[in-house]
Amino acid sequence: MSGNLPTLKPLLLDTPPGEWKLSSGEPWREKQLREWIFQRFVSSFEEMSNLPAALRADLAAQYRLAAVEPLKIQGSADTTRKILWRLGDGSLLESVLIPANPSRDGHRSGRLTLCVSSQVGCAYGCRFCASGLDGWRRNLTAAEIVGQVLGAAKIAGCRPDNLVFMGMGEPLANLPRVRAAIEILTSPEGLGIGARHLTVSTSGLAPQIEELAQIPGQFRLALSLHAGTDETRDKIMPVNRKYPLGKLIPACQTFARAKRKMITFEYILLKDLNDNPAEARAVVRHARRLHAKVNLIPYNTVEGLPYERPGEPAIRRFQQVFREAGVEATVRREKGHDIDAACGQLRLRQEKAGLTA
Ligand code: SF4
Repeated sequence: MSGNLPTLKPLLLDTPPGEWKLSSGEPWREKQLREWIFQRFVSSFEEMSNLPAALRADLAAQYRLAAVEPLKIQGSADTTRKILWRLGDGSLLESVLIPANPSRDGHRSGRLTLCVSSQVGCAYGCRFCASGLDGWRRNLTAAEIVGQVLGAAKIAGCRPDNLVFMGMGEPLANLPRVRAAIEILTSPEGLGIGARHLTVSTSGLAPQIEELAQIPGQFRLALSLHAGTDETRDKIMPVNRKYPLGKLIPACQTFARAKRKMITFEYILLKDLNDNPAEARAVVRHARRLHAKVNLIPYNTVEGLPYERPGEPAIRRFQQVFREAGVEATVRREKGHDIDAACGQLRLRQEKAGLTA
C-alpha cells in the first residue's frame, strides 16, 4: 500500500541491524556503527570518526542514514515540542516530544514521551481529526518511523523513555512496517527501549488488533474509542461501519488476554456529540469487560472543523459517571495547547503555506 517514492538510495534502517552488508570484514565495525546511530544519534556516516574513511564512503554510497530532516520545531509554554520533519520525498511529518514533569526553566526533570507518526496523512477520516483532512498519501517505512525517534533524541539530547504511536496515520493500517520499527526500537541491537514503554494506538481495525496480539513483546494498546455506542461512533468514525463495537471489543479482549495488559481507551470529548452521561455509561460497560482505563481528552479546536470542546461542568459530569462505576478515568489536559496540538495540524498549516518543497 506504499505510494511511489522517488528513486533514492535505500535507508540503512530499512534493513534490520545484523543484516547490513559492510565492506569491512572486521566484526566490531558493525557494533561501532550501531553505537553511532542508536547511542549518539548522528545523522551522517561522515560523523562516525572511528570508522575507516573507506567504510564510511562505502556506506554513504549504498545507503541514506537520516530518514527525517527537522524543518521546524515549535515549542510551547509547557515545553512540549512539536517537530515538523521533511522526508526524502519531500513529504511532511510530525512528532511531538512531551516531558512528563518539566521544570520551570524548561529543563528535564521527568520522563520524556515521544508521539510518532506512522503514515503521511490518513485514510480513516475521523471527523474531528486534522490528519485525515487531506487524505492518505503513503505509509512510512520502518526507517522513517525509527528516524523520528533518533531525530527527536538528537534534539532532546537523550533517548525518549516512552513511545506512543499516536501521531499522524493509523498504525495498524501499516502494520508490517510498524512491526519492523518496533523490532528495531526494542531490540538490544537497536535502541533497546523496553516494549512495555511502547503504546500502539488504533482507531479500531479489529483484525489487525488480533494480529498485533500475536506479535511478541509486552507493548500496550490504546483504542481510540471516542463513543460508547455504534450510533455515535458511526457519526464521527467511519471505520466503525466496517468494524462496529461488536467486532472491536472482542478483538481487544484477544489482545488483553494475550498480553495480560490493561488496554487504554482514548476518548475525545466533543460538545453535544459524545459528552452525555448515557454515552459514558456505555463506555463503562466496555471498560468493565476489558478492564480498561479511560483517558478523557477535551477536544482541541481544529481550524476548518465544526467541533467544540465541552464546558467544564459537562466534562466533570461525564467523568463522574466513571467515578461512580469504579472505572479509572482521568481527564488529560493536552499539553501544547498553543502549538497546534491536534495531530496533523502543524503539517497542514505548513503545506498550506507552500513549504513542502
Ligand atoms: S484520529 Fe487517527 S485514524 Fe482517525 S483520521 Fe486521525 S490519524 Fe487517522
